[in-house]
Amino acid sequence: MTLTRTKRIGVVIGLAVVLTTLVSAAFVALLPEQEPPARLSIITSFYPLQEFTTRLVGTDVRVQALVPPGVEPHDWEPSPGDVLSVAAADLVVYIHARFETFIPELLAAVPEAPPAVATSEGRDLVTLETGEIPRIDPHIWLDPIMAQQQVPKIRDALIQIDPDYEAGYRERAEGLLADLEALHAEILEGLKGCEFRTFIASHAAFTYFARRYNLTLESISLDPEVGPGPARIRALIDYALTYNLTIIYTEPLVAAGAADVVAEEIGGKTLPLDPVEGLTSIDASSDRTYFSIMRNNLTNLRIGLRCS
Ligand SMILES: [Zn+2]
Repeated sequence: MTLTRTKRIGVVIGLAVVLTTLVSAAFVALLPEQEPPARLSIITSFYPLQEFTTRLVGTDVRVQALVPPGVEPHDWEPSPGDVLSVAAADLVVYIHARFETFIPELLAAVPEAPPAVATSEGRDLVTLETGEIPRIDPHIWLDPIMAQQQVPKIRDALIQIDPDYEAGYRERAEGLLADLEALHAEILEGLKGCEFRTFIASHAAFTYFARRYNLTLESISLDPEVGPGPARIRALIDYALTYNLTIIYTEPLVAAGAADVVAEEIGGKTLPLDPVEGLTSIDASSDRTYFSIMRNNLTNLRIGLRCS
């Protein structure tokens, strides 16, 4: 029997459909009972809040981040799909309306907006004099003490919408607070006895961290999307030479061009110092967490600051 090409393709597609169905059926049969649908859906703006919130909820609550893995949250813009996600959410968790400016916009676009919690509320934040509207420096999660202050905000917002599960939220919050306290103690100890207290990082993310651990920070640029001009690069080279720095820090979601230039000019090298603003697509499928990234940051800082 000979078949025309169109018919052959039709047969191939038909077979593929049958096979896929059979394989799927076999696969489903092998799976344990399907997970029940999430009891609640929480939307967080970007990565560290997703991790902190996930730590506070049970397995029956779904926590998502609007900013996807591999994307840097500064100047990120939502899509129409994100309006639907927010409309369907039971709670929205973010840092500050003057950083994730898309959150008030999304909430305004939804007829019945879910409750939303600004986890930096009541904190004394640094204001950045950039653009028409002054923005705040949002990077509080990089200071484990300020991160600890975010936890009760998220916990209380969860208890508000889900009071029957209060005990669990309180217990898990204590666990997260203890982990943040341990991280803080580790950084404090790790940064004792260092030859230098000065470092150059990629975009201006480590201000609160530097303040907490008595370090002096120079950032290559204020905003991750806006690289430095030649004058700024020259100033950074002079700065590095003045302080005998040999390590320039880079970050995974920002191009390392300027850091490479400065490192080369001073005869030094680059190392990552990750502001944990989003996992890369690789991190997202690995077991990297805020805590493992922060510990890696400490290791690399100890190299650059020559800590004994
Ligand atoms: Zn940032």
